[in-house]
Amino acid sequence: MGFDNSYARLPDRFFARVPPMQAPQPALIRVNEALCADLGIDPQWLAGEEGLRMLAGQSIAPGSEPIATAYAGHQFGNFVPQLGDGRAILLGEVIGAQGQRRDVQLKGGGRTPFSRGGDGRAALGPVLREYLVSEAMAAMGIPTTRALAALTTGEPVYRETALPGAVLARVASSHIRVGTFQYFAARRDVDGLRILADHVIARHYPDAADAPRPYRALLDRVIAGQADLIARWMLVGFIHGVMNTDNMSVACETIDYGPCAFMDSYDPATVFSSIDHAGRYAYGNQPGIGLWNLTRFAETLLPLLDADEAKAIADAEEALSFYAPRFLDTQLRGFRAKLGLGQEREGDAEFLTGLLDAMTANQVDFTLFFRRLADAIEPGQGDEPVRELFVDPLAADELLARWRDRSASEQGPAAERRDAMRRVNPAFIPRNHRVEEMIRAAVDKGDFAPFERLLHIVSHPFEDQPENQAYAAPPLEHERVLATFCGT
Ligand code: AMP
Ligand code: MG
Ligand code: MG
Repeated sequence: MGFDNSYARLPDRFFARVPPMQAPQPALIRVNEALCADLGIDPQWLAGEEGLRMLAGQSIAPGSEPIATAYAGHQFGNFVPQLGDGRAILLGEVIGAQGQRRDVQLKGGGRTPFSRGGDGRAALGPVLREYLVSEAMAAMGIPTTRALAALTTGEPVYRETALPGAVLARVASSHIRVGTFQYFAARRDVDGLRILADHVIARHYPDAADAPRPYRALLDRVIAGQADLIARWMLVGFIHGVMNTDNMSVACETIDYGPCAFMDSYDPATVFSSIDHAGRYAYGNQPGIGLWNLTRFAETLLPLLDADEAKAIADAEEALSFYAPRFLDTQLRGFRAKLGLGQEREGDAEFLTGLLDAMTANQVDFTLFFRRLADAIEPGQGDEPVRELFVDPLAADELLARWRDRSASEQGPAAERRDAMRRVNPAFIPRNHRVEEMIRAAVDKGDFAPFERLLHIVSHPFEDQPENQAYAAPPLEHERVLATFCGT
């Protein structure tokens, strides 16, 4: 594995050099062969003795310069000036087959100078959850960090109880966060900010370097990228769960999967995270939180935007004003595609609001509704499976009638329109009850078969998979999992 570590070449104050913890009895759970191929990593090597030693922290691969990066962040709205990688070690960067630079990080890789009171470790459950959900997101085409490999360490980690310890080898365009910028801004380290901004521009937004005002261009790119990303979450019912500024990537990938979950029945107030008592990060709050976080990002850039503070603020405000229209446009375009509507029409936003309100009132399963709608494209066909999803089937009849009315002028054969809908409406998402069931099997019984099975299913989200229909179904009343936890 060849490393080239541009972040480790930044000034010393950006990180601490720290080797990963050595796992005493590492056992590989899985290597992501397809991702290995993308990155030019030999999966046989990674799954073999040498690769496992690297993943387990027992040896440092040639060229790897392990570091823990410094960052700050707003956690549930409260600013913490120093967080940093407290349980993650960046092994370095690899250059993929297409020249793409990717971080390789060991999450659960041991204590670092940023660990504060923490043990630097990860438990098996969250490692499997992140592996599975990040790969599901990737399969749906949503920008995300990826899972390269997972292993158990052979050592327990202590949460409320003793749990099997694990490590996730994670790949990201970078692990630079809004909180990384906040770290330097909080220290009034303008040189550090500029170095960081230049690094991010060179790495993620090279065209911004040629813009008349590169730092404004950087801000614009991140605002647009996050607006698009969060819109994509909304379109599949994804709830991140901990949208703290330290969990928001400036490369605009979904990052730091903790108590995340997918919504079953549509309701904007849906929250799963056990630590989110006020519902700050509820499904329907995500777009607004995105703007709040980006406002914090813009604040860090003020000294770079203009020497005159008033001008810098006006500049940042202008940039931020593009967030809402960008988000709404991406979201509406996405919903139009989900609804099989090729043409844009006045009144689309109202149509969508009416649809979503009816879905909330009728506790309609978000995923199944859109998937089944594709089979109802011809009047008189496929109504019943849609009606079944509604508390009041008459509400479904009314919606179907309005939708068919709205679709009447759509061009192209119904079969093609149906296929187009099926390419954007997943049949399979990582349903929370299935994720919990998979974790229970692995943690309680050492049985990884449900993990492998669920991973396979959600890696092909747009295929019908008749043999796996049970995994498309929402939870029954007694199967419902209402809370997800960060550490277990
Ligand atoms: P998270 O909630 O996972 O985004 O983490 C927030 C902060 O807490 C980051 O700085 C993490 O590195 C740190 N952290 C979380 N869990 C641990 C742990 N077990 N040991 C050390 N630091 C941790
Ligand atoms: Mg240092
Ligand atoms: Mg985090």
